[in-house]
Order: sequence, then C-alpha cells, then structure tokens
Amino acid sequence: MQEKFYITTAIPYTNAPPHIGFALELIQADVIARYQRILGKDVFFLTGTDEHGSKAAHVAKEHGKSPRELGDENSAKFLKLCEALNISNSDFIRTTDEHKHWPSARKMWNALVSAGDIYKDTYVGKYCVGCEAFLTDKDLENGLCPIHKCLPEELKEEDYFFRLSKYQDELKKLIECDEIRIIPLSRKNEILAFLNRGLKDVSFSRPKEKLAWGIPVPDDDSQVIYVWADALTNYLSGVGFAEAGAQFQRFWPPDVQIVGKDISRFHALIWPAMLLSAGVPLYKTLFVHGFITSGGEKMSKSLGNVVDPFDLILRFGSDAVRYFFTREVPALDDGDYTEEKFIARYNGDLANGIGNLASRIVKLGVLSGREIAFSPNDLKDTIEQTELKYRAHMEQFQFNDALAAVSFLISAGDEYINQNKPWTLSRSIDLEEQKKFDAIISSLAFALGHSAVLLLPFIPWSAQRILDALQIVDIHLETWQGKKVKFVQTPALFPRK
Ligand SMILES: [Zn+2]
Repeated sequence: MQEKFYITTAIPYTNAPPHIGFALELIQADVIARYQRILGKDVFFLTGTDEHGSKAAHVAKEHGKSPRELGDENSAKFLKLCEALNISNSDFIRTTDEHKHWPSARKMWNALVSAGDIYKDTYVGKYCVGCEAFLTDKDLENGLCPIHKCLPEELKEEDYFFRLSKYQDELKKLIECDEIRIIPLSRKNEILAFLNRGLKDVSFSRPKEKLAWGIPVPDDDSQVIYVWADALTNYLSGVGFAEAGAQFQRFWPPDVQIVGKDISRFHALIWPAMLLSAGVPLYKTLFVHGFITSGGEKMSKSLGNVVDPFDLILRFGSDAVRYFFTREVPALDDGDYTEEKFIARYNGDLANGIGNLASRIVKLGVLSGREIAFSPNDLKDTIEQTELKYRAHMEQFQFNDALAAVSFLISAGDEYINQNKPWTLSRSIDLEEQKKFDAIISSLAFALGHSAVLLLPFIPWSAQRILDALQIVDIHLETWQGKKVKFVQTPALFPRK
C-alpha cells in the first residue's frame, strides 16, 4: 500500500493579516509536501487559522468589529495567501468551525478529564495577551514579556488546570531518544534545558465572564477552553479525530509538524503531553524554523520595514518568492530580507541560472528541428552527485543547501554548452556533426529535465513549464533513457529585473 505522509503548519492568529514569516512557514511545508509526493507518498497537508483567544477579542474591539467578523476577514486573507503562493494544502481548518473543529477539541478535553489530568484551581499570576500565555516571574525580563516588551495582565481567577508536570520525565525520555524528534539540534537542547528546570501544571481554561471568545468547556458553560488547548487540537480535527473514521486511521499521527521558534515550547511540551494523556499516538518530527528579519532588523510598523507577501508575489511571481525564502533563508536559522538581496537572487539564480539554461537548451533543440533522445552521457556523474546531495539535504530540511546543489548542476550545464558550442553544429548537414550535436543536446536535456524535477517542490509552476518544453510526462528518470522527443518552445520563465 502507498505510504502516507501527514504534514502541518502552525495555525496563525487572525488578529492581523498574513506577514512574511508565515509565508515562509507555508512555503517550507509546501516544499516538503511536494517532495514527499514526488517520492510516491500519499500526502495530507494541513494549514488553517487560530481565531479564538484574548488577543483576537481585544483587536476586534479596537477595530469596532466582532471577533467573528475579524476572524472571517483575516482567515480569508490567509486562504488567499495559500493560493497566491501556489500552496498544495489538502485542507484549511478554522478553530471557529463548529462542525469540523469543535467536536475534536471537546473530545480531547474529555479524554484529558478521563485521564484525571484536569482539575480546578485558582490561578494567580500573569498573562501576556500577545503570547496568549500564562507567564511566571522567571519568564519575564525587567517585569515585561520578553517578546512583546509589555506589562502582562495580572490575573486571579478560577481555572481548570492540566497536569503537565506529570509528564515531565516521560517527555524528557521521548525527546532525548528522538522518539519525539526535534530539528534542529539547538532547539532540542533548548527544550531539554527547559524541561530540566521543571514543568508546572498549566491553566487550561478561562472564565467566560473574562473571555467569552472560545470553545465552552464540556459540562461547564462558565469556562472556555484556553486558546492553546483549543488550537493545538486543530492537528487532530483536521483529519477527523472526533469521528475517528478512515481519514484519521489513514493519516494520524503527523510525520512532520512545522512551527516558528517562538511557539516551540507549546509544541514540544504541552502538545505531546496532551497526546500522552489522551492515549493518542505522538507526532514524529517537530521542525522549528527561524524568523525573517528585514535589513537586519525585526520587522515592525514603526521601523517601516514590514514586507508584505502579497506585494512581493505581485511584483515577482510566486515561484520567485518561494525560491528566495528557501534559498536565502537558512532553514534552521534566521534569515534576512532586503530588496537588493531579493533582486540579486532573482537575476543570479533564476533569470541567469535555470531560466537562461532552459531557454538555451530548448532553443537549440527546437532550431535543430530533430527529435532529441534523453541520455546523461558526459554529465552523468554530475547529475548523480547532485541527486545524492539534494536528497541528503531534503531529509534534514536544509532547503538552501539542496538548492545550492541544483545550482551546481545548472552551472555545469552552462559550462558544458560553452565548451562544446553546439550552436555551431545545430544546422550542419554533415552526419558526424549531427551525431555530435545530438549527443550534446541529449546530455543537456537530461541535465535540464533532472534540474526541473529537483526544482518542482520549490518552483512548481516554472519547473513544470520546463518539463512541458522537454515533453517529459513521467518525472521518473529511469523512464527517460533513450526516449525521443521534439522540444516545444517555452516562454521566458524569469525575465531579468
Ligand atoms: Zn508576550
């Protein structure tokens, strides 16, 4: 039977329209999803929006809207971003969806109650609305939330608590032995260091009189489920946890969950503890990505350096945006955006790189008017080495290195053309010269086709145009050897900027 692969992004808050950081996460998840499909797996790819909580309620009030209106408005923008970036998600879940999401969130709550892991207590302490997190004094810097630099709210209220502390030792063991695999290693170590300081139970609900915008706690209408306890269950509801039907049986547990570094603790500690408590199998890999800075600074409205993903897509196309953020941003660290860097990558790697190579080879093939056979010939070793490097990097989510390997093959193709000057032979009537020309073009066609297949997860639209020009229908290399086709002219893929 075909192997399954379930991948998720985090679900962003709908208190603001999409920013470039979430675009990065969508692109990374999509690259993995498309890559796994090429490997032959049956992929389910989930994204969506997290619409409940204090922050959504506050921001809606500021804008004179209901939280529902704000959620509808911004959720639609996230959906639009998926389309604009050519994201191949299988579904889009909204935590306000009372049919698709709420039953699973409630089922999880009831499972935690049955396990004896939910109890009522008084919470006295601080809450950062920006983080949607209960903070202890240890978390603060000079009394302020270290992320939002603001004074947290002081709370004293009756809440339900989740016995997170009970799972401390088990979580530690699971993370240490990579049963819960956290990538990169620096993040795994950070989580283990946090675990070693000791886990406290967490408040898992809020009184309705203070926050009405959420899912009511089953059997207690005076409380709503804490926004994180609600949001984390989207990964379950997205594949039908409540009904536990064929889709859930097929795809659970997630193979890869992608999150930003700011929310890694929720996903590496609270989330697996909930699954352990409920007796639901754990996800396999948590991939934690860094942030995007703009000109070396954190993006902020006051600095005027906020990058709008829609604006970039409009100007350069979705493939160029997808390429930049996977090639320029190290997958395991922070990356920086500037307009100069973007244009340099665009012209260097896309217009002068793959775009130019494709146009040169296809033109030569079309001009010759002959059928071209696919055979790696002189470029065989380079093609094989590229494939090996590319695969090794893809398995580790090192997208920038995988793309660097493809760039090497593209440069090798360019060099090969310059050395062999096939254009001097393209219209020759000498049979020996025709043979020589055909051998050169065969090898180039193979290298170009192979580059396009490797680029399919990254720049799906353009890579497909190249495959179309080469008349490649089956992307499996083994099927190409000796195949004869007439190339079809392709429009310029990346006009210079
Ligand atoms: Zn905060």
